[in-house]
Amino acid sequence: MYVIIAFFIGHWALSVFFQTFFLHRYAAHGMFKLSPFWQRFFHFATFVFQGSSYLNPRAYALLHREHHAFSDDERDPHSPHTYPSLSLMMWKTKERYQGLLNGTLRTEARFEGETPSWPLLDFIGDLWITRIAWGALYALVYVKFAPHWAWFALLPLHFVMGPMHGAIVNWCGHKYGYRNFATRDRSVNTLPFDLLTAGELFQNNHHKFPMAPNFAARAWEIDPTWAVIRVFAALRILELSPHIQVARYVPAHARNDQSDDALPPDAAAS
Ligand SMILES: [Zn+2]
Ligand SMILES: [Zn+2]
Repeated sequence: MYVIIAFFIGHWALSVFFQTFFLHRYAAHGMFKLSPFWQRFFHFATFVFQGSSYLNPRAYALLHREHHAFSDDERDPHSPHTYPSLSLMMWKTKERYQGLLNGTLRTEARFEGETPSWPLLDFIGDLWITRIAWGALYALVYVKFAPHWAWFALLPLHFVMGPMHGAIVNWCGHKYGYRNFATRDRSVNTLPFDLLTAGELFQNNHHKFPMAPNFAARAWEIDPTWAVIRVFAALRILELSPHIQVARYVPAHARNDQSDDALPPDAAAS
């Protein structure tokens, strides 16, 4: 039983870590620099730990740049305020991701900037045979270690780990939580200690300060991935710019622009 619990938590944590660290903060935003060696290392690690639901860094980055530019308006690829249900939002996100990946859909030139490229790995990672092989490997772990058939109910979650994390962040991070900053979208921070998605659920902080590698903005907020980034920076595995953006909460009474952290006026209905 403990093997299965450790396997589930381990796969969850590592999959979401590489999503936020490599796909989001590095590929989509370029928040830090990696040498060619370390870029390949983390690209490969993302392939391994996302496994059956590996997301292509370039398609992820293009889609995510669209999300920032159009956050919560009708061109946002995955706003919970555009789609009435989580499943429809996920389906439409998948269609756009696939279109950007295969070149059947184009994005605006301004979103096309640099992204990590490893054509062979991305080709292999997207093959059905590869995805099925990863799935079979997860199933073998359950066959060997699950003490009861009921544990197999967790198995499908392993198959869709990457998109499932995306769904949690995109839906909850723009719907349920508190706001530190006035933004023109409806982003919120869902969890003050985001151990569930390694910092991704600080959507409000992140939309206000999209280039800040630390997604936490208040003393009591914890972004675990920022802690890892600092360790990697100390070990010279990555390089942070000396001029990194810092997300910092300023209480309403200390602000001089009279802004507040309320939702935009048209957001009250949903
Ligand atoms: Zn967002
Ligand atoms: Zn982002």
